[in-house]
Amino acid sequence: MLTTRAQSLDTIINRQPVTVKLPSDKISDYFATNVFTNESMEEFLSEEAYMSVQAAIHAGAKIDRNIADQVASSMKAWALSKGATHYTHWFQPLTGATAEKHDAFFTPTESGKGIENFNGAALVQQEPDASSFPSGGLRNTFEARGYTAWDPSSPAFIMEIGAGKTLCIPTIFVSYTGEALDYKAPLLKSQHFIESAAVKVCQYFDRNVSKVTPTLGWEQEYFLVDEALYYARPDMVLTGRTVFGRGPAKGQQLDDHYFGSIPERVYAFMLDLETESLKLGIPVSTRHNEVAPSQFECAPVYEEINLAVDHNQLLMDLMDRIAKRHGLRVLLHEKPYDGINGSGKHNNWSLSTDTGKNLLSPGKTPKTNLQFLTFFINTIKAVHEHADLLRASIATAGNDFRLGANEAPPAIISIFIGSHLSSLLDEIEARVHEKGFSEQDKLILKLDIHNKIPDLLRDNTDRNRTSPFAFTGNKFEVRAVGSSANCASPMTILNTIVGSQLTEFKTEVDGLIKGGEKKDSAILKVLRQYITESKSILFEGDGYSEAWEKEAKERGLSNVKTTPHALDFYISEKGKDLFVKHNIFNEKEIDARYEIRLENYTKKVQIESRIAGEMAVNYILPVAIRYQNELISNVKGLQDIGMDGKATAAQAELVGKISKHIGNLKTKVDEMLDARKKANNLEDNRSMAVAYCEKVRPLVEEIRNHVDKLELLVDDRLWPLPKYRELLFLR
Ligand code: ADP
Ligand code: MG
Repeated sequence: MLTTRAQSLDTIINRQPVTVKLPSDKISDYFATNVFTNESMEEFLSEEAYMSVQAAIHAGAKIDRNIADQVASSMKAWALSKGATHYTHWFQPLTGATAEKHDAFFTPTESGKGIENFNGAALVQQEPDASSFPSGGLRNTFEARGYTAWDPSSPAFIMEIGAGKTLCIPTIFVSYTGEALDYKAPLLKSQHFIESAAVKVCQYFDRNVSKVTPTLGWEQEYFLVDEALYYARPDMVLTGRTVFGRGPAKGQQLDDHYFGSIPERVYAFMLDLETESLKLGIPVSTRHNEVAPSQFECAPVYEEINLAVDHNQLLMDLMDRIAKRHGLRVLLHEKPYDGINGSGKHNNWSLSTDTGKNLLSPGKTPKTNLQFLTFFINTIKAVHEHADLLRASIATAGNDFRLGANEAPPAIISIFIGSHLSSLLDEIEARVHEKGFSEQDKLILKLDIHNKIPDLLRDNTDRNRTSPFAFTGNKFEVRAVGSSANCASPMTILNTIVGSQLTEFKTEVDGLIKGGEKKDSAILKVLRQYITESKSILFEGDGYSEAWEKEAKERGLSNVKTTPHALDFYISEKGKDLFVKHNIFNEKEIDARYEIRLENYTKKVQIESRIAGEMAVNYILPVAIRYQNELISNVKGLQDIGMDGKATAAQAELVGKISKHIGNLKTKVDEMLDARKKANNLEDNRSMAVAYCEKVRPLVEEIRNHVDKLELLVDDRLWPLPKYRELLFLR
């Protein structure tokens, strides 16, 4: 009988690229056709209602019931004109995926017919059955209700699945008592917070600024694998990664995949994904191969942060569905293959004003450059103060395989700013003195800042790929985010810490001005102090090196490699104070999130270890024994025809090796079972997560080690699991 592996290999040999039909030659013809854009809104809404929605979008104003009814009826008219039959509140619970529950517009009437119905109440609020979403104890069983509430700042859209079309309304998800149960509610809070803090600081430089918006451009990395092979790997199906598998003879050492030509089937998938994304208004613009074989990346033009987060969630959902049309599966796991680069999601972040200025983009005049330096240095200071929170925000079971393992980027949060900016900061530190600075210094500094900025703009290429947090010309790039993460988690933290820092900055500068200092020199003085205080987080060298680990320790930077420990920062007094003070999370919400994250970690490792144990016993041991038996009968046969020990030595040696691994495998599986039992009996979530991290996970690795050795020894024909060379070299 053929193994599933052999069958799946047969299947993929006959695969053909799927033909993708583009809606039009020009993207602008179909971009955002499935979005209830401002344009469609204007067409379908009365002027009063339109203005009211715009006020809600831009200034967070409340929408009253009467207007909501109008919006609902126009949304319905638009959706029906597009062929939608159902609607849903679309939200982002803490499971990590997006959630939806569809309701039909159609309601039967007494006449025996029916009508399409949708009103303001249904638009504004819904009560999905929330009891099976994680709540970290925020909902006890008799108060299991939660509700979703419309977020007008993210436009409604129509999701097409086969012939079905559903109107999706982006919403936040909160408990009955008002605590956030999702990613979006805190993100919006953090957004409003940094917006108001940044506007106040902008006023020092430009009185015309009345709104500042954080922007986000994500870069999504992912792996593709053929669906037939995927289904032949229970570990992939259940965990999204391979718990066993030896690196192929040819891995990524030739660096020939990066930016190489895209295989045809993959290209068809990308076109399909891009078309569907563009119809939904996701401005995807780049696609390319990544470093590892079968690894790819896609990135959009950046957008306002809330929309960018929604669009990334939507894209991940689309990827999954569209890949299936092409006989492919998308792996969003941070580390699908051992020994091969993992996947991340760079979060490019900046702040932009309603006057059209990017606050992290160096300007053309000394004044705008001082503004640039203000936002630039305040961000550095914020990350220096709260690097631990940023670390916690990206901690997951999957991301632990990247951070803290020998790969990009390390678990130590440092900032790369390039040589030009480093020397500029040194200059400021040297020229601005405690007692202010001399007229001559002031002039030199102004000229210096001014003269150096053009160099910076050209400095774009000076990039350090090993840094977890890098300045790249006109934005900061958080590189340590995991590929499957919801960007809202790190972005909420970044908005909050920078917002908090800007608030402090404003207080300090105002204090100096009150004391008689001129504005510019007050600003420079505070910035100088910040440079001195946060210098230790700036690092230009190789972030993967052992030398850096040592140096970082001397500098007092944290290096926390695993999730259960990194999460401690969330509930530290410093973290809690910050969140509560700025009204991003209340204490209950922080505790709940902490528990959910711990539980999520434990469950992930638990599933991983269960599947590893099962596969070791049910897949690997039987074939190892079978092959061993073949060898033994061979030895016996040779002896029967009178061959001596010399003739049977190689076979006997193989039998011995296999025997050793079989024995060890069995022992380790038993030990792992035991470790899991002990862990499960622990009282609290943290001890359990730590036990899974420190006791269970290492055993999974040991088991893997024996399996991977057996893979080299056992007859290839018998091996049941698709091997790395088959999974990775997709054509
Ligand atoms: P790479 O880092 O791969 O070289 P780029 O630097 O061109 O690519 O851009 C990466 C991402 O950064 C893109 O998604 C882009 O839209 C985004 N980006 C560019 N400018 C900004 C900005 N001001 N704010 C947020 N994201 C930005
Ligand atoms: Mg990048």
